[in-house]
Amino acid sequence: MIGYSDLASAFRELDIPPVAPSMVHASLSAFGPVEGGAQTVVEAILEVFPTVLMPTFTYKTMVVPDIGPPDNGLAYGTYADANRQAHFFQSNMPVDRLIGMIPEMFRLYPRAHRSLHPILSFAGVNADRYLDSQTISEPLAPFRLLVNEKAWVLLLGVDHTVNTSLHYAEKLAGRRQFVRWALTPDGVVECPGFPGCSDGFDAIAARLSQIVRKRWAGKALIQAIPMADLIQIALTWLREDPLALLCDHSYCERCRSIRLDVANLA
Ligand SMILES: [Zn+2]
Repeated sequence: MIGYSDLASAFRELDIPPVAPSMVHASLSAFGPVEGGAQTVVEAILEVFPTVLMPTFTYKTMVVPDIGPPDNGLAYGTYADANRQAHFFQSNMPVDRLIGMIPEMFRLYPRAHRSLHPILSFAGVNADRYLDSQTISEPLAPFRLLVNEKAWVLLLGVDHTVNTSLHYAEKLAGRRQFVRWALTPDGVVECPGFPGCSDGFDAIAARLSQIVRKRWAGKALIQAIPMADLIQIALTWLREDPLALLCDHSYCERCRSIRLDVANLA
């Protein structure tokens, strides 16, 4: 079993510049047993990194109308059951299960604040400027500021399929963004600028060998990548190959929609 000091030493060994903000993606189960669980991981992260953000997404607010914009990466009319199970967004809503226990514990940390996007919120400590930059129409706006301020991406026991920064690279490359809808106490809110699918994102790993720093913490591989370099590498690749980073699932509506865009441009 590992504990607070093992985690803090592994994080320190990444040798990230002391003032750099960090966008953290983490899986508790990847570490193996951790004394004190998710709370210990969050405390070790905050011991080492001064400014931390994590995604605190809430997909269960999502509803889909019967008709909407075309080429929107979804099959209208097939969401009646999902719509019935949707929840109203509230700022204290738990993080989606897929996002995990560590972001959920981080969101509840006394010094953490959360942005108010009803699907794609982030929580942060010492990160109000980044959180406040997010709007309904620009859910990825915090990444613009983070890149300018030499942020790092930390992948703690997870791979690039959860690396939200790559969505910002897709947006910069001009890749199609989608429209989604969220149930809120003020009614259904249209959320443009919704990113594509991330299932194919781990293909970027092979291109990062020069810039990634790796350590182990318990059973978890932890990786630190400078965000600006990551985004530049992804952007260069997307400009060379407009199909880069898409997934291979035949059922994936968003990747199919992007393939159609590329075919129509050719
Ligand atoms: Zn896909």
